Amino acid sequence: MRRATLFNYNIPMTAGVILRDRRLTSRHGLLVRLKEAGREGWGEIAPLPGFSTETVAQAQAETLRWLQGWRSGAETGHALLTPVSPSLSSSAPLPKEQNLSPSVAFGLSCALAELAGLLPSAGNYSGALLCTGDPDELIVQLNQRPQPVAKLKVGLYEAVRDGITASLLLQAVPALTLRLDANRQWSLEKARQFARFVPETLRSRIAFIEEPCRTQEDSRLFAQETGIALAWDESSRSPGYVPTAEPHLRAIVIKPTLVGSLATVCETIARASEAGLTAVISSSVESSLGLTQLARIASWLTPGVAPGLDTLSLMQQQLVRAWPGSPLPLTAAEDLEEVC
Ligand SMILES: [Mg+2]
Repeated sequence: MRRATLFNYNIPMTAGVILRDRRLTSRHGLLVRLKEAGREGWGEIAPLPGFSTETVAQAQAETLRWLQGWRSGAETGHALLTPVSPSLSSSAPLPKEQNLSPSVAFGLSCALAELAGLLPSAGNYSGALLCTGDPDELIVQLNQRPQPVAKLKVGLYEAVRDGITASLLLQAVPALTLRLDANRQWSLEKARQFARFVPETLRSRIAFIEEPCRTQEDSRLFAQETGIALAWDESSRSPGYVPTAEPHLRAIVIKPTLVGSLATVCETIARASEAGLTAVISSSVESSLGLTQLARIASWLTPGVAPGLDTLSLMQQQLVRAWPGSPLPLTAAEDLEEVC
């Protein structure tokens, strides 16, 4: 007998979280719990405003339809989990998602994977630290890690200031590998201004910069001129994109909530690896439940690569499962609002 429960959550964010050009005061999403034969599996379905094309209401309607079929015994889960076929040619389209939105396909596939015992329990909880707040405290924290990786958002303020901040961090933490993310905010000239304040001797410790310029052409020029490697984030989600080797491109950022099922995530990672690119599993500001699953997915599918999951501290509480070491209060499943 199959039982499914859908929960609704709304978590207050810490003040001043800005995504793209909007302020995110609370994070709204869904949690799904599937039960069968004494086992259970959880998944999080949380479209990210400004990034996802589906809304929470649409995701909820899709999920309810899918759950109705699943409860009555439909074998609709296979395509969401089918393992990657290494023989697929690189021009083949990525697998279809049974007309499910990416966040729905991702959340349901996680729940199915847990139910089937496919998602290993070990997680990578020591990903890149997000540079927010007090830089002195961050430097102490980073210096305590054996292989510190930090992520700095740039492009929000003056490019010169970003260059100085990046250089300061690299100088203050000699073992640091730094990831930068400009979210396509810079003109080529602004990007050059940034690089002028990062001495060439420090640039090799910049693992990559995500999307420095407004256009891919300018980003490529910037990388060519400065020797700073690129990562595609937004570009990797443009329709029809297939991870492909190109000069100066080092990594692609994979945000499963925006990508789709575990099958599609696996496929994208395999394509990236074939192209010699690093795949970095990254958060779409999920709750602690989704984040711990992403840490497990990172450990499973991208071993040895620090994931970008340091977004829990933007929230005021955790849901159902705790992130190791987080001091935030934990809300249990019984205290969540049930949709069905
Ligand atoms: Mg990014």
